[in-house]
Amino acid sequence: MERIATVQRTKAILNAYGLQLKKSLGQHFMSDPRILQKMLEAVPFQPGDGALEIGPGIGALTQYLSDRAEQVVAVEIDQRLIPVLRDLFKDVQNVSVINEDFLATDLTQLKENHFSSVGRIHVVANLPYYITTPILMKILESDFPWQTITIMIQKEVADRLAATPGGKEYGSLTVSAQFYAEIEPVCYVPGSAFVPPPNVESAVIRLTKREHPPVPVEDPRKFFLLVRTAFAHRRKTLLNNIQVAKQQLGLGTLDRDAIVQWIESCGVNPSARAETLAFELFAKMASKLS
Ligand code: SAM
Repeated sequence: MERIATVQRTKAILNAYGLQLKKSLGQHFMSDPRILQKMLEAVPFQPGDGALEIGPGIGALTQYLSDRAEQVVAVEIDQRLIPVLRDLFKDVQNVSVINEDFLATDLTQLKENHFSSVGRIHVVANLPYYITTPILMKILESDFPWQTITIMIQKEVADRLAATPGGKEYGSLTVSAQFYAEIEPVCYVPGSAFVPPPNVESAVIRLTKREHPPVPVEDPRKFFLLVRTAFAHRRKTLLNNIQVAKQQLGLGTLDRDAIVQWIESCGVNPSARAETLAFELFAKMASKLS
């Protein structure tokens, strides 16, 4: 089949089906085959592996995935695109298209119905930017057996996900995502690679599932609560953020001085800001919440 990911072909398909792209659904279609090749090179496909794509659009990335994966499942919310995808992939046996909002998709059923006979599963997507974080957190927090997630997202979010302590990009999203995965940048993507070009810069990153968090976390629920609390007001010190939420954290009986002592006993400076704290320190503090 002719490649879909060129400007000419993308426009021809949109014209043929009389489609106007919807900004509200983040519809910026990939039309640079070199970027897709780079993206695919980052996915460690082995024979028999499956691919889950979120938001296939008119199938630019889907086409590359169908060459590499045993089975491709693509979840697209926009019902206008379903007949296009069905036509374009009618002779391709390993692509299944589901017309659904991914945020409402039951991932357990998806696995049972579509991936029962594949090896590992790789999530690969050019995500709709308006819901990058909820999509990512849905997958990370689920039991869905993904191995890697390779996504094209807004560069600013990619920088936050791959950030290290000390910078302004480092935040609760960084710490939460790094709990589940090792995160590596793959490449930056110019706006000219899309039809129509988005107003923001883009980047591809790869997340590889960790078998265990980087340091042991006894109670993930407490860990995430602490991380959210510590970053709740970025300009406030750790002490002030913790003090405001001391009831939720189970520190309700402690006065300010006792909270200072408690933070110090974790090896942390109470006047520090959360953005300077490495993962290990959040884990240590969480383990001391009782
Ligand atoms: N994968 C295609 C490409 O690279 O050309 C299209 C990518 S475009 C950035 C995002 C796609 O996600 C659009 O097709 C849009 O309709 C779809 N989408 C938006 N919200 C969605 C949702 N909640 N669930 C599933 N798909 C969604």
